[in-house]
Amino acid sequence: MDVIVIGAGAAGLMCALTAGQRGRSVVVLERAGRIGNKILISGGGRCNFTNRHAGPENYLSSNPEFCKSALARYLPADFLALVEQHGIAWHEKKLGQLFCDHSSREIVEMLRREADAGGVRFHTSTEVGAIRQTATAFVVETSRGAFATPRLVIATGGLSLPKLGATDFAYRIARQFGLNVLPARAGLVPFTFSGPRLEFCRELSGISTACRVVSEDGPAFAEQLLFTHRGLSGPAMLQASSYWRPGTALRISLFPDGGARAWLEENRGSGAQLHTLLARRLPQRLADAWARERAPLRPLRSYPTAELDALGQALENWLLQPAGTEGYATAEVTVGGIDTRQLHSKTMEARAVPGLHFIGEAVDVTGWLGGYNFQWAWASGHACGLAV
Ligand SMILES: Cc1cc2nc3c(=O)[nH]c(=O)nc-3n(C[C@H](O)[C@H](O)[C@H](O)COP(=O)(O)OP(=O)(O)OC[C@H]3O[C@@H](n4cnc5c(N)ncnc54)[C@H](O)[C@@H]3O)c2cc1C
Repeated sequence: MDVIVIGAGAAGLMCALTAGQRGRSVVVLERAGRIGNKILISGGGRCNFTNRHAGPENYLSSNPEFCKSALARYLPADFLALVEQHGIAWHEKKLGQLFCDHSSREIVEMLRREADAGGVRFHTSTEVGAIRQTATAFVVETSRGAFATPRLVIATGGLSLPKLGATDFAYRIARQFGLNVLPARAGLVPFTFSGPRLEFCRELSGISTACRVVSEDGPAFAEQLLFTHRGLSGPAMLQASSYWRPGTALRISLFPDGGARAWLEENRGSGAQLHTLLARRLPQRLADAWARERAPLRPLRSYPTAELDALGQALENWLLQPAGTEGYATAEVTVGGIDTRQLHSKTMEARAVPGLHFIGEAVDVTGWLGGYNFQWAWASGHACGLAV
């Protein structure tokens, strides 16, 4: 056999079918009982399979140049063409996010058919043990015996969702072959809070509102925020979580388009209290709770200018310091991982270990919420599949 791919997730499947269709003899080893497990549960069962606008700026990496080559050579339009070729109905939800109309299963079936067309062989329910290198091959010990190959692709993903079988396998193999692994953390994950702030979130659990959030030195995300019984979630918070560092605060604007101070000024003559006015812009219960924390119970017209300035400021710069995140148990991705400085960006091959490749979420490239992570899996898998 020419190539072994370990891991039948998005990246491994794309790599295997690309190499197979180039005439390579490919075997895929997967420990789960079926292929594409994460694809099946993705996007609420409808798989947000790509994002029309995916570009290098939508990814976190300590080496931001790395993802450019693969992303430029396999575009969202390329994956969409494949989806259409297979007659899969799709729709654009918002912000360039493309979903199946019916089921994620269609994406897995499509990849399976493409892999079959390339003669790819699958071994599911296969535990992979030790890997060693001889003068001519990598030898992979498995529960089905040993396999030898000159080209080995590690596509076993990151640490998120251990209940689906996520392991640190890729990091262990990288270290075994002398590659550096950057610290990993949970990304696209809800925040948890403690103390009075947790009580605040609990009281509002289930309420969602539009916001604009900035975490650390990350970009601003204008999306929905959702209060939960553990803290904050919703797309805005998931996006911010990938950039968040413990001990730092989130900066949230409840007026995502700005203009809070001007709006307060417009209403300055009002005899209404702040919470009543705020309920015109925010869910009532949030308006009540937010105003109760910082505004005295009197009509807005009695507020001095300095107090209105402070309120306008607070509405657009509400600082909240999470206690932590819900961690890998609910995280959609792992931020960090195998240091891309040690990989060739065109082929995903380890510079110091010819024949050994790493793709997908295992490497230190993490996309935003909205189809970007699958696009990286397709693009890195495709780049590797053309090279092995
Ligand atoms: C709930 C959820 C929803 C998501 N929704 C979306 C979405 O809609 N859009 C989007 O872009 N991204 C989404 N993501 C992120 C996306 O699923 C991942 O970024 C992507 O699946 C990564 O692909 P991968 O092939 O690198 O890894 P994975 O998909 O994790 O695949 C790795 C494979 O390797 C196998 N494996 C692991 N260890 C071994 C081993 N030792 N031996 C053999 N096999 C092994 C695993 O069983 C798995 O099949 C979601 C993630 C989650 C958790």
